[in-house]
Amino acid sequence: LAPNELAVGVDLGGTNLRAAVVDTSGGVVFAVHDQVGSDLSPEAVVARAARCVQRVLDGAAVELSEVAGVGIGIAAQLEGSSGVVAVSPNLGWRKVDFGRLMVEALRREVTVLNDLDAIVYAEVTHGVARGHRDVLAVYAGTGVGGGLVLAGRPYRGATGVPAEIGHVKVVGDGRECGCGQRGCLEAYLGGANLSDRLRKEALSDWSALLDRSRNDPGSIHPGLVESLATEGDERAGALWRELSNHFGRVLANAVTLLNPSALVLGGTVMEGCPTLKRLSIEVLKKQALAVAAERLKILDPALGGDAGVVGAAAYVLHEGRSVQ
Ligand SMILES: [Zn+2]
Repeated sequence: LAPNELAVGVDLGGTNLRAAVVDTSGGVVFAVHDQVGSDLSPEAVVARAARCVQRVLDGAAVELSEVAGVGIGIAAQLEGSSGVVAVSPNLGWRKVDFGRLMVEALRREVTVLNDLDAIVYAEVTHGVARGHRDVLAVYAGTGVGGGLVLAGRPYRGATGVPAEIGHVKVVGDGRECGCGQRGCLEAYLGGANLSDRLRKEALSDWSALLDRSRNDPGSIHPGLVESLATEGDERAGALWRELSNHFGRVLANAVTLLNPSALVLGGTVMEGCPTLKRLSIEVLKKQALAVAAERLKILDPALGGDAGVVGAAAYVLHEGRSVQ
């Protein structure tokens, strides 16, 4: 492969930092997996990411000047395609010119995109949704995020923040969300918020859940409710019905609005809670416009932990470089 058929992809989450040299077929040539570390200052994080880029270039025996570009997916809301991070709750950043800092560290232009957009792009170009031109992807993990590919192109919205499905409202004046508003889907289904709620309920009056955690509330996670629900526990069943009604309705409305051919449903909450996932899909199928739901393919993500680096690199290779 000629070096210009390679790109560097970086996946910068709240905890994990991955980088890889990726080829045009989505193959990972050389990858490293690091931690973001405890110093979350932009300078420290940028220095760490730049070191990872250098390590994968060394590992793949190519020069930075030879590859097609560097794509970086970051867990943040971005200001359009400027490379500026408007807000990153995970990193604790607000108004950080991340793109410029990376350019200064690497002495090479970079393409900055939202980490979930990179993951969705990977699934469409090289993963489970290959061949689909209209794809909605929803990941329910620590938070709840989404990505959209419409007519074969990543949909960027007017200001770069489309498909924020986690902040679609499911309850008027409902539970508090990290975005500062109330009643968002993420306030109910996001793993962090849900685990918080479960801990409180276990300590106040849900003894079966506290027992299931071996009296260790700190270890409570949605998977414990899943196991209770599969055993017929009434309270767990009722909670799963509540959450699947919220989630299924949001998905149904999105499918009715967008008419995608594929819906990719992923994230740790979906992986760890198959009953909740199945119930949500039942609500989705019942409530979406029938002709839109009829041929909809509901798919599991295929690329796992590599999706972020593959997608960021594929974006550079297929969409061309932009930003800086
Ligand atoms: Zn919200």
